[in-house]
Amino acid sequence: MSVRINGRTKLAGVAGWPLDHTLSPAMHNAAYEDMGLDAVYVPLPVRNESELARLVSAVRVLPFLGFNVTMPFKRAVLELCDEVAAQARLAGAVNTVHCADGRLIGYNTDGRGLLQSLADEAGFNAEGKSVALVGAGGAAGAALVAFVVSRAARVAIVNRTKDRAEQLIEAIGPHARTTALAAVALDDAREDVSGADLVVNATPVGMNGSGEMPIPAGWLRRGQIVADMVYRPAVTPLLRAAAEAGAKGVGGLGMLVAQGAMAIDIWAGGDGARAPRDVMRAAADEALSAEREGAGA
Ligand code: NAP
Repeated sequence: MSVRINGRTKLAGVAGWPLDHTLSPAMHNAAYEDMGLDAVYVPLPVRNESELARLVSAVRVLPFLGFNVTMPFKRAVLELCDEVAAQARLAGAVNTVHCADGRLIGYNTDGRGLLQSLADEAGFNAEGKSVALVGAGGAAGAALVAFVVSRAARVAIVNRTKDRAEQLIEAIGPHARTTALAAVALDDAREDVSGADLVVNATPVGMNGSGEMPIPAGWLRRGQIVADMVYRPAVTPLLRAAAEAGAKGVGGLGMLVAQGAMAIDIWAGGDGARAPRDVMRAAADEALSAEREGAGA
């Protein structure tokens, strides 16, 4: 990558903690270079909400195009924005902030990123479909909003803590005119998972070689689509079980690339620019394989 920084170079970055393993700088800087966008994307490590607030004040006086927000601040940053897009407000989480004429506008591209990766990698369109969404945190909220907006027939929110699934339904349910919603405790979810057209893992279970499954393998069946938001490792235990059951697996890297590309489209799209998804995917793949080689894997 060759970044030529000059007096007019714009800034972008990702705020979160920890950021040691973020793939976003590799993906974004590769895209900016390909697009001829005079900008540089850097990690913005903030350890707590007080540091996040100070970062947001700094962003207001610096030449930022915008910034992404990752765990654990997607909810906290929402309150620091001047305006929040309807879908992000509904999800209760912002992952993309656009600096526009001195104002900070919050968006959430995670849900649309998931839909895009499902369309690209499995030809899946949620309209009229039944979904088992495992998890009830920020990523599940964003996914739920996306499924409601795309008129899924039914979404079962399956979570270890059923109360949190119920809270999501309380917040998003009033906007779900054509989507039936159900909160289901993880232990009781066999029928909801087996009966779904699409199963989505929106928990961190299976990350970093833990070998753990978010749901029992025996609940999956032939013909389903099974999406894992986890992308480290590339083939998670859930994706392996999906393949063994004859289901189609979709890994989390496509979602990561799509949510990042949509952020660039928001920041630079005024000029008709569209982020190069293929370049971003190649950069993310390369960063992941460098990481594996570094770990001696
Ligand atoms: P979060 O807000 O902390 O929510 C975590 C969810 O996972 C909660 O529902 C939690 O259940 C559940 N959970 C955690 N550990 C569990 C366990 N051992 N067994 C069962 N359930 C467990 O996190 P998030 O922001 O939603 O992120 C969830 C995952 O999605 C993370 O791995 C994140 O990296 C990934 N993600 C990927 C992308 C992408 O682009 N691919 C984008 C966003 C997020 P309780 O409510 O019971 O605690």
